[in-house]
Amino acid sequence: MSMNSQGRPTAPTADNDTGEMTPVFESFSGHQGLRIAEPLVFELGTTQTTGVDVEEIEDFELSVGGLERDSEIGCPGLAEPDVVRHFTRLSRRNYGIDMGVFPLGSCTMKHNPRLNEKMARLPGFGDIHPLQPLSTVQGALELMTELSHWITTLTGMPAVALSPKAGAHGELCGVMAIRAALEARGDAREIVLCPESAHGTNPATAAFCGYKVKSIPAKENGRVDAEALKAALDDTVAAVMITNPNTCGLFEDEIKDIADAIHAAGAFFYCDGANFNAIMGKVRPGDLGVDAMHLNLHKTFSTPHGGGGPGSGPVVFSDALKDFAPMPYVVAGADGFDIVEDGDDTSLGRLTAYHGQMGMYVRALSYMMSHGSDGIRQAAEDAVLNANYVLASLGDVMSASFDGPCMHEALFDDRFLKDTGVTTLDFAKAMIDEGYHPMTMYFPLVVHGAMLVEPTETESKYNMDQFIRSMRGLATEARAGKTARFEGAPYHAPWKRLDETQAARQPVLRYTVPEAAE
Ligand SMILES: *Cc1c(COP(=O)(O)O)cnc(C)c1O
Repeated sequence: MSMNSQGRPTAPTADNDTGEMTPVFESFSGHQGLRIAEPLVFELGTTQTTGVDVEEIEDFELSVGGLERDSEIGCPGLAEPDVVRHFTRLSRRNYGIDMGVFPLGSCTMKHNPRLNEKMARLPGFGDIHPLQPLSTVQGALELMTELSHWITTLTGMPAVALSPKAGAHGELCGVMAIRAALEARGDAREIVLCPESAHGTNPATAAFCGYKVKSIPAKENGRVDAEALKAALDDTVAAVMITNPNTCGLFEDEIKDIADAIHAAGAFFYCDGANFNAIMGKVRPGDLGVDAMHLNLHKTFSTPHGGGGPGSGPVVFSDALKDFAPMPYVVAGADGFDIVEDGDDTSLGRLTAYHGQMGMYVRALSYMMSHGSDGIRQAAEDAVLNANYVLASLGDVMSASFDGPCMHEALFDDRFLKDTGVTTLDFAKAMIDEGYHPMTMYFPLVVHGAMLVEPTETESKYNMDQFIRSMRGLATEARAGKTARFEGAPYHAPWKRLDETQAARQPVLRYTVPEAAE
């Protein structure tokens, strides 16, 4: 039985030395202690009941022009406590940044400071509508202007478009601006170059904008092959999309030289700025020759990520591209702030219905202002320090893909698992039993069986040591041929191994009433 330092038992069941387990009985309820069985919401309620008591509606004239629904809506009627319990129980099966270390690489899953939430709920930011008269939202427009100032200062770029709603959307914005700039000079080009290590959204964006994508190989040291890139540059290349630091967690050290070559060929340099967390306050992309770059506010600037909140992907532009930035944008005039929504002839147009993710602007600016410029630099330094701590602590039992220190994420591959029968997938599933969300698996594609770990600056030494202990334990067992805990992992998760391919390709998104119940 494991004991804490005070001699009190911390875990009632497993005894690692004897392997003795407390017997587990089937419960009558189907629940297992705090692990409560949860049916679908449709199975909990019925369409015949309702959780609210409303008066019978008197006869009325329908005014939807024949578009009224002709079938039942099919939603189960549940009382409020049942709805609250259902979603609370589901939420407890989820893993989030508020539960523990979330080491997904390139995602920068950092803590979302509660101060941000408080600011975003201030009525002047939280309770406004995009169609309100501008005279009543001057504070919000000032905040957008202030945020733009921080972003352009940190990146060393002259202009920013706030409205894109995610990193991928920002890429779309940037490449559309590049296309608009090329068309304006009557120079339609057809190719976009992407390194092999690129995030899938880069080639997808280029293809979506009508370009052919050409892949540029990586060198032995994990950086893009600058010579191969230069050889591929000619007057058919519209843009080169490079992530820096790249998805191997490495700084592209020839980036300035590459940028000069891109410009000499008349092309544009799109930088994927998803990994800006590693260099903010240290390096300004504007000084590296970048023409357009998105920032992921939900990564670098601590706004909620994934299911926790909408993304936001502002794009910064160089002088060569800034006239092609999308509308709307905020301008400061003698009578206060105004929004330019149309009439800008060079702008690529509009990418969003309104002005973007206001709530995320407030959170990101709160993060920036509460850190200050020195704090932002420190956050980048600590993120890099933490990643290198992981790399140095695990380098002897796992196989680091590249020599030397890393930036914000540590990349391992599956060479240390060779001939053990354990795969990267098994290893990741065993991490779930350890109480961790797995790291990024099988990406980047430039190494075999990749495991990409990004701890971020918000993990303390205590958390890092616990995580490292766990990873060391798993790696050591796998190498020693003790594969039992990997074979059926996860043993302790509510759901075991799902068919992830089918879930991605053929998701079942609609509940169908079982025939017997109809
Ligand atoms: C996250 C990420 C993206 C895409 O950003 P989203 O906000 O998820 O659309 C693009 N490139 C890299 C390198 C990323 O890590």
